[in-house]
Amino acid sequence: MKITNFRLYSVKPRWLFLAIDTDEGITGWGEPVIEGRSHSVAAAVEELSTYLIGKDPRRINDHWQTLYRGGFYRGGPILMSAIAGIDQALWDIKGKAMGQPVYELLGGLVRDKMKTYSWVGGDDPAEESEQMKRLMAQGWDTFKLNGCGRLKMVDGHRAVDKVIERVATIRENLGSSVDFGLDFHGRVSVPMAKVLLKELEPYRPLFVEEPVLAEHAEQYSELACGSSIVLAAGERMFSRFEFKRVFERGGIGIIQPDLSHAGGITECLKIASMAEAYDVALAPHCPLGPIALAACLAVDFVSYNAVLQEQSMGIHYNQGAELLDYVLNKDDFAIDGGYIKPLAKPGLGVEVNEDYVKEMAKEGCDWKNPLWRHEDGTIAEW
Ligand SMILES: [Mg+2]
Repeated sequence: MKITNFRLYSVKPRWLFLAIDTDEGITGWGEPVIEGRSHSVAAAVEELSTYLIGKDPRRINDHWQTLYRGGFYRGGPILMSAIAGIDQALWDIKGKAMGQPVYELLGGLVRDKMKTYSWVGGDDPAEESEQMKRLMAQGWDTFKLNGCGRLKMVDGHRAVDKVIERVATIRENLGSSVDFGLDFHGRVSVPMAKVLLKELEPYRPLFVEEPVLAEHAEQYSELACGSSIVLAAGERMFSRFEFKRVFERGGIGIIQPDLSHAGGITECLKIASMAEAYDVALAPHCPLGPIALAACLAVDFVSYNAVLQEQSMGIHYNQGAELLDYVLNKDDFAIDGGYIKPLAKPGLGVEVNEDYVKEMAKEGCDWKNPLWRHEDGTIAEW
């Protein structure tokens, strides 16, 4: 079998789909994207594709190592997202060629169903509580919310109270019937993280995500010492070589590698395995499309330490298209009581609605994250 062609489709809401064709008529799909820089990742995929045209797609380990080590400069969001999407598509091809779902090629299921959670957007705690109640009626009991809006490097008690009161209101409205994680989104500085983690403790969030930016990963262990809240991070870490520093220093209870950012299935399996050795849980980041989600699930279903899977159905970022719009086998993505079953079709288990992908790609997509500023005019972390 030989790789014959690469096709890229930039589509709403903010995704990039890759189809890799072969001379045997099998096509594999991947999602090589970093949100807000999809055109840069597309250029990287095109540059890497020249090596792969004419090669046997089934030698995934060698292709991964060559794409990574074959470049003198490597790593980072653009190149690792490009490799991630290519890697996903190669696994999809291999599974389809062998007539097996990817998790079977990886040793088979370690669990019957995977726990997922739902995002709840907004800043109004009353509205957030209502959203959660609506989702609870559909069987959800685990959620994620942004922990705060913009916050100064050192902010006063009014800003702190606003964060705490919001979480307190949600707990008051819903009691102990729900679990929710709080995503600090890298918006919180090290000094403010210390304050907020301590003050949030009584409301028992399931975890706090990106308590500080990945650039300050050396602070995680000290932050963890000052609070009983489980800390989560990893969506802005791109390889096992970055994660190893986090494992060595400690402090993180849940790692959240993104299957479309951190080198794909091949790399994230290794990251998951390293985490297991440190008794760290896995909750792959995935506010992305169906192929990225399928890649996450392939890893979750063979990883003992996978505890939660993010998914983007109904997420506030999905403007102009939804995850299932691009999928023909929608029923396979059904979520029952917050759990999703293994995607049992060969390869990644996604039947991509190619006609719809092509139609949406005509319109294209150029999503950028918002630019926030503080009141003094300095740029703020979004
Ligand atoms: Mg996050």
